[in-house]
Amino acid sequence: MFLADALKEIRDLANFFRDRGQSERAEAYEHAALIVSKLDAAGAPPAPASTANPIPKELLGGPRPPLSIPSNVVRCKKCGHQWTPRSTRVFRCARCKSPYWNIEPVEKPG
Ligand SMILES: [Zn+2]
Repeated sequence: MFLADALKEIRDLANFFRDRGQSERAEAYEHAALIVSKLDAAGAPPAPASTANPIPKELLGGPRPPLSIPSNVVRCKKCGHQWTPRSTRVFRCARCKSPYWNIEPVEKPG
């Protein structure tokens, strides 16, 4: 049982800090242990969405669906380069380094 293991570990930590005279930390871990024990009594809650497996059960064991292109791919309007930015804010194109990568290029007259 996962929660029982977690509970034991948290209590071990509480004892660890109490042994070292860090009673505030020990109390914090004991409080956490209390919360976990309540969860255990209520039955394990469903895993949060962030850690839940997004692959449907019927697909597990079978062929994996192809990994789709991440939705945060951006495309440079100047050079057409597509990339996945590491940051949520993109300051310049990863290839041509243009800071105007997301602005439609203006045809210069003449
Ligand atoms: Zn570019």
